[in-house]
Amino acid sequence: MLVYPDAKTVAQALTPEEPVILNRPHAARRAARFFVEKFPGKVLYAVKANPAPDLIQVLWESGITHYDVASIAEVRLVRGILPDANLCFMHPIKTRSAIKEAYFQHGVVTFSLDSMEELDKIVEACRDPETGEEAQDLRLCVRIRVSSEYSELSLASKFGCDLLEAPELLQKARQHCDWLGVCFHVGSQAMTPFAFVQAIDRTRAAIAQASVVIDMIDIGGGFPSVYPEMEPPPLEDYFAIIHHHYEALPIAYNAELWCEPGRALAAEYSSMIVKVEKRRGSELYINDGAYGALYDAAHVSWRFPVNALEDDLRDPIEDFAFYGPTCDDADYMAGPFALPGDIQAGDYIEIGMLGAYGAAMKTGFNGFGDAQCVIVSDEPMMSLFDGSRQPTASDNVISLR
Ligand SMILES: *Cc1c(COP(=O)(O)O)cnc(C)c1O
Repeated sequence: MLVYPDAKTVAQALTPEEPVILNRPHAARRAARFFVEKFPGKVLYAVKANPAPDLIQVLWESGITHYDVASIAEVRLVRGILPDANLCFMHPIKTRSAIKEAYFQHGVVTFSLDSMEELDKIVEACRDPETGEEAQDLRLCVRIRVSSEYSELSLASKFGCDLLEAPELLQKARQHCDWLGVCFHVGSQAMTPFAFVQAIDRTRAAIAQASVVIDMIDIGGGFPSVYPEMEPPPLEDYFAIIHHHYEALPIAYNAELWCEPGRALAAEYSSMIVKVEKRRGSELYINDGAYGALYDAAHVSWRFPVNALEDDLRDPIEDFAFYGPTCDDADYMAGPFALPGDIQAGDYIEIGMLGAYGAAMKTGFNGFGDAQCVIVSDEPMMSLFDGSRQPTASDNVISLR
């Protein structure tokens, strides 16, 4: 497959009328190796961040063996690409038919739950259809609700049983499996490792009260990537602090520690070339937006790095806002995005860090959604894994103990 050196070469070679997704397999490989080598436990890829088959293949080749899937479509997708991967169905509300198909046809035995109803549903759906016997190989994870206060995007209000319900649910689940885990999610883009400390402390209380054997703690996703004005501490600091607090939990001596990064593994994989269709003062009308890969830029004012791809722009940098291509006023990205002051219609812009919750969000609304994908070999516009960031370890770790 043709590999281009960078975005500028792609824009010059293709003069594309539609957005172009630029993929960097080397960046995804580097992120996966980092997690596999440095996280003190097992690393699952949360497929929803970016389900691109090429990315899933790269992660597998880089040592990611477990995948957090949330729908039967994700189960089928990953199973179709990776016959030997370990799939974990971590959405706490599943349909009976999805559980059945996952268990009987795709070899899924790990399921999360946050209620008695879901526990009953899983146990019933996985019974042997002939003998009526309960499944003997289920691995169940009880999801506990934790705070999202240290994260940029909350995952706190929707899922997870509260601390009062957790002990009884853990005891009930234990009666149906030989392997029981606790999981949680601190919210996406957790800007401090303290988010995980607080969540681990909540699980300690639930585990102590339930007094059942716990075989696994899954600390979920939430590991940050790097964006303009969102520069997190080094991931090594997160790993050190998490490991320290994990070790103090009252769990089985051979218990496992899991994590489920989506964003941190995928963010650096993709950027996108867009074309300026029109300029109105400091507003640029571009050909991707709120219904495309810029969903978060529109809906939660996420900042992404931008770079003009023309050689003839001379004016100083100014702040711009973007309008997307659809007819909806809400198709608007406030930014601000810093670009040369003489940028104009017909120019191309590269928008970076769209590998997680970017490329995956594209819809065909209003007839806009086409994009071709190409591979480029240059560095992502920002990176947590290029060696430029060193662990600040000691002070951070000690101050949070
Ligand atoms: C979305 C999600 C993840 C991934 O979260 P990131 O913030 O992208 O790391 C992991 N686990 C579960 C259960 C999720 O819903």
